Amino acid sequence: MPDDVVAAHERGVRNALAAGWKVLEGGGSALDAVESAVVVLEEDDTFDAGRGSFLTRDGRVQMDALIMDGATMRAGGVGGVERVKSAIRLSRLVLEKSPHVYFVGEGAERFAVEHGMKLIDNSELVIEREVVRLREFKAMIAAGGVDTTFAGPENSHDTVGAVAMDVNGNIAGATSTGGTLNKEPGRVGDSSLIGCGCYADNLSAAASCTGWGEPIMKLVLAKSAADKVAAGKDPQTSADESIAQLEKRLNGHGGIILLDARGRFGIAHNTPKMAWGVRMADGERWGTKVGG
Ligand code: ASP
Repeated sequence: MPDDVVAAHERGVRNALAAGWKVLEGGGSALDAVESAVVVLEEDDTFDAGRGSFLTRDGRVQMDALIMDGATMRAGGVGGVERVKSAIRLSRLVLEKSPHVYFVGEGAERFAVEHGMKLIDNSELVIEREVVRLREFKAMIAAGGVDTTFAGPENSHDTVGAVAMDVNGNIAGATSTGGTLNKEPGRVGDSSLIGCGCYADNLSAAASCTGWGEPIMKLVLAKSAADKVAAGKDPQTSADESIAQLEKRLNGHGGIILLDARGRFGIAHNTPKMAWGVRMADGERWGTKVGG
């Protein structure tokens, strides 16, 4: 994250905290809180979710998202959607209205329409900054300056996510992304896959991940971090160990936020920066780097 965008990231995170907190303060569910927080981040062009997402190799926005309820383990996810404004709202619709858990592409969009969600043109999600970024990235590849078998921190960041605990002690998680820069059309990353980029179970933890999706998927990172909590580790230790394992085992990079049903949380990343924020009854904290 270049220094000139730090303020925008922190502002976005704080806006998301405010939206999530408003729900929780009013006695709303953790599920509603994570959805509200993620919608705010999707609507903010700063992040790789909703409008302003990274572009696929052929210049389109293709989004993945998942939302999961820790109390019931109900989940809703979508992959490769191109014509909805909010992938997380569509995921919530899947969670609420379908016996299925996961929809992709055209079927997901048809499901959206059948349940009253308006489709938009993909161009409404594309912004000039990303058109330029894709063009420059392709020029770097053409010049031999990028190893395309590796998604470096420069092309896999800014996915958004939230975890929350409500007044009833239930937890939930949500993750939404435009994926990685210059991804091949149809590629789905970790973000929307249960247990990879997002997870929630009251009996272990709620988690949301960001970073290079392929290694995160292989390690089923969100679920394995939650399992560490279920095995008795505190969420911060579990988050630290999970990110250390991502680096050691697969040379991956990324970050995780983790929350258990006792309200204990952990935040870890092995990238130079990751925007994060925490809101609790005693106040709010946020930043772009954890642990110095
Ligand atoms: N994890 C996302 C993906 O691989 C990218 C990101 O976190 O920014 O699709």
